[in-house]
Amino acid sequence: MSTKQKICIVGGGFGGLYTALRLHELPTEVEEKPEITLIDKGDRFLFSPLLYELITEELQSWEIAPPFEEVLANTGIVFRQGEVTNIDLEAKQVTVDNSSTIDYDKLVLSTGGKTPLNIVPGAIANAIPFRSLKDAYRIIEKLRHLEESHQDIIRVAIVGAGYSGVELACKVADRLGDQGRVRIIDRGTQILDNATDFNREKALTALEERQIWIDLETEVAKVEADEIALTFKGEVDTIPVDLVLWTVGNQVSTLTEKLNLEKSDRGLLKLQNTLQVLNNDDVYALGDIAECQDEHGNILPATAQVAFQQSDYCAWNIWAQINHKPLLPFRYQALGEMMALGADNAALSGLGLQLDGSLAYIARRLIYLYRLPTLKHQLTVGLNWITQPIVELLS
Ligand SMILES: Cc1cc2nc3c(=O)[nH]c(=O)nc-3n(C[C@H](O)[C@H](O)[C@H](O)COP(=O)(O)OP(=O)(O)OC[C@H]3O[C@@H](n4cnc5c(N)ncnc54)[C@H](O)[C@@H]3O)c2cc1C
Repeated sequence: MSTKQKICIVGGGFGGLYTALRLHELPTEVEEKPEITLIDKGDRFLFSPLLYELITEELQSWEIAPPFEEVLANTGIVFRQGEVTNIDLEAKQVTVDNSSTIDYDKLVLSTGGKTPLNIVPGAIANAIPFRSLKDAYRIIEKLRHLEESHQDIIRVAIVGAGYSGVELACKVADRLGDQGRVRIIDRGTQILDNATDFNREKALTALEERQIWIDLETEVAKVEADEIALTFKGEVDTIPVDLVLWTVGNQVSTLTEKLNLEKSDRGLLKLQNTLQVLNNDDVYALGDIAECQDEHGNILPATAQVAFQQSDYCAWNIWAQINHKPLLPFRYQALGEMMALGADNAALSGLGLQLDGSLAYIARRLIYLYRLPTLKHQLTVGLNWITQPIVELLS
């Protein structure tokens, strides 16, 4: 019987995929290499910070969403496509698609979050969230349909003035050009509440240049097929709309809800500083499903940057636990914030640097290129970015 440790990673996003890749890279004698299984309900990893670029067709889906089979080729990591429907923490067993089971010695939970639409009447039927590749395809399809209808104006309402809402609004406005009438709706008193002043200022300029309306202190009361009801200072106003995009909220999955593990008020898994969950040292959790604090006790945001940094520690700590070495407490390093503000425009602030315009756009692209999983994928995408303008020029 094999004595190799079985590591099961549920969710192949920023937390899960990068943990698998890091763990595979750590030095271990061949005969002791753990068996790593990565399970995801989809067949592709999604680099979500670049999802906006699909709307403007600046990037193609193969660049930002490589298939797991391709990313994991030659690593020995087993990929299993399927939805994890149950986890038996006592028996150390994961159930996939309500049928087959996978045993584990160490479990990594990184199933991310979902965008809740069930909080406003009509939103499930009439609004499109912006989180997955499928969501982006739905939005593109709908925009294409509206563009081909040759109506004079296309009215798009985007709910949420956080990073996702603002970035999406700029890309949609750039895609639609003069035909577009884009508005952002948020219940807060300002856009980008958690951003740096520099990024907020640049975002306001970008929104103004694109004539994007900003409805602050406004709540969505109802969404219908062709109109949206908004409440401002107690008054309800109903406005016509062709498309409603939803960017607010982060809810954990039903799988996480079912788990008999300690959770925060928001339903996020509570962690030890080693990224192991409370009271179970064989289960690690990272990314958007976990409540993680920095060394000062501040709760970290649900970002790729956090999940990415956690994956290094998670991989190391699993390796250390297996090899009877001391585990490391997670230390978060805030590296700054970047945002796309339309085609060929971005804002970036961090590590004492502030950039905007085309320079920030290029810097953002290069930083993300470096963050794409595997050197092979980075090279293929990078080469495409260099050669594509030449091909377009010649054709
Ligand atoms: C449009 C958009 C733009 C963003 N831009 C930025 C940005 O610029 N910078 C930044 O830092 N962060 C950004 N974020 C946030 C960032 O993407 C998330 O914080 C990050 O992806 C969290 O990583 P994760 O591993 O927890 O979850 P995810 O990356 O969401 O991965 C979760 C994975 O789990 C899988 N899964 C879920 N449930 C199951 C199940 N039951 N069984 C099997 N598989 C399952 C999903 O298919 C998915 O692949 C953005 C998010 C979005 C949606």
